[in-house]
Amino acid sequence: MIEEIKRIQEKSQDEFASAVGHKELEQLRTKYLGKRGILASFLKRIGTLDSELRPAAGKAVNDAKRAVVSFFEEAKSRIESSAGGKSPATFFDYTLPPYPFPKGFLHPCTLVMDEILDIFMEMGFEVELGPEVELEYYNFEALNTPKDHPARDLQDTFYISGEVLLRTQTSPVQVRVMETIDPPVQMISPGVTYRRDAADMTHLPMFSQVEGLMVDRGITFGHLKGFLTEFVRQMFGEGRRTRFRPHYFPFTEPSAEMDISCGVCGGKGCRACKGTGWLEILGCGMVHPHVLDFVHYDTEKFTGFAFGIGVERIAMLRYNIDDIRLFFENDLRFLKQF
Ligand SMILES: [Zn+2]
Repeated sequence: MIEEIKRIQEKSQDEFASAVGHKELEQLRTKYLGKRGILASFLKRIGTLDSELRPAAGKAVNDAKRAVVSFFEEAKSRIESSAGGKSPATFFDYTLPPYPFPKGFLHPCTLVMDEILDIFMEMGFEVELGPEVELEYYNFEALNTPKDHPARDLQDTFYISGEVLLRTQTSPVQVRVMETIDPPVQMISPGVTYRRDAADMTHLPMFSQVEGLMVDRGITFGHLKGFLTEFVRQMFGEGRRTRFRPHYFPFTEPSAEMDISCGVCGGKGCRACKGTGWLEILGCGMVHPHVLDFVHYDTEKFTGFAFGIGVERIAMLRYNIDDIRLFFENDLRFLKQF
């Protein structure tokens, strides 16, 4: 009988090893291990043996049972792993083509921001980032705007505490960079800025800027005009005229605002340009010597220019949008057009 049990055990090993699918596996389990299965029938037959033969036969049956259980477990894990860890009912075919899934797209202001950065990076400017929660010192003092300066009224902001505020411009990054490196400096600083402005067609309490700065020996207003004119040419295409109007900023001297000819009327005058033929696009100027003094640059040797571009403003001009609030109302009918 012991020989017979060994043969059954070997046979079961072959059968479990070649079993395909859960159904066949279950049939084999019942055949060998079930209550009326082959091993159970051997146990019953032990009672008919002579008493001195019973212990060895019982041990043989138990050994065979342990072996068959391990064949079953092996076959089961083999079948499950080949089905991707799932039972056949939930098996998922990863090679099937996917359901159509809605694709995202970039926000128009992000598109314009990327384009601005690309243009300036190609001209040799390095991207520098700074904190949105800024010290008053970097946002105002070091940019030649002391506490009693009237220009602070135009840039009122949100204060976190006495000397900590949400930055009103990305210009503080200039100061932070100049504090850590010696000239030459050629950088742009993109980011979000904040002002205590009520929302209307052209104002929001939060907007984005790209600040630019170049400091070296012999930098003149001519360099400033050259870089910015090339920027306009790449951003808006050939044929847009530019002009620089004198302006005032506390941190530049002389200061200017840059205009481009109106794209709607071609410069003849229309509603978009309020009849002037020109649209303002950015503020700029030669860095005020006081600003360079704050970072201990030698103002006898070094000069520089700076400019600040409103990203939403450029996006509005680029896509002929007349209300800045549209960018942040999250209306997909609007946002899907870009
Ligand atoms: Zn116009």
